[in-house]
Amino acid sequence: MALVSWRGRRVLITSGPTREYLDPIRFLSNASSGRMGFALARQARRRGAAVTVVSGPCPARLPAGVRVILVVSALEMRRRVLALCGRSDVVIAAAAVSDYRLRSPAAHKLRRWSRPLRLTLIPNPDIIKEVGLRRRPGQVLAGFALESRPGLSAARRKMRDKGLDLIVANGPSSLGANRSRAVLLRRDGVVRALPALSKDALAGRILEEIRSLS
Ligand code: C5P
Repeated sequence: MALVSWRGRRVLITSGPTREYLDPIRFLSNASSGRMGFALARQARRRGAAVTVVSGPCPARLPAGVRVILVVSALEMRRRVLALCGRSDVVIAAAAVSDYRLRSPAAHKLRRWSRPLRLTLIPNPDIIKEVGLRRRPGQVLAGFALESRPGLSAARRKMRDKGLDLIVANGPSSLGANRSRAVLLRRDGVVRALPALSKDALAGRILEEIRSLS
């Protein structure tokens, strides 16, 4: 499918980090600011799309004119995304989802002992991969791959494994930053290395690439 225009297209975006609570006070998370997901939401909205963002807790300013669903954990994000993805023309996974959650979060604040504390973590579901398994004809899926090792092979593998049409490969310096240097990899093999851009400008380039996908 080549999107002729964004006007009236339903776009679902995951954004921000997720939190996995150890006890009522502490959690596992990451430094995602939510800026990339919100920039995508703003830019898609500017182009006339009907945008829903499912966002983990983050400091970024909420985008105007967009439906924002706030969630905390990966399981909550999964539930909301799977309920909405069937109605979406484009799904963009920009969230930095925690890979693991606690097997048994403590009901009360953990105490400090003099011995080591062992926590058992279990893997979280891969949300965008599940969206890919339920994908409906004509739906376009895009995701991100943040890699600390050089090269694009891991990003390419993730694109295939998760059934994405486009993956945005970037490095750890993008996390929580104002600017980002990214490489766009398309399922058809086209690779576009972009210069360092503001997240709004990068969002515009990503949407342009999605629109041109066939
Ligand atoms: O596998 P990795 O976490 O590097 O993949 C990143 C891509 O997959 C991002 O688009 C991210 O939003 C998405 N993802 C997801 N659910 C997960 C982990 C990652 O949707 N549990």
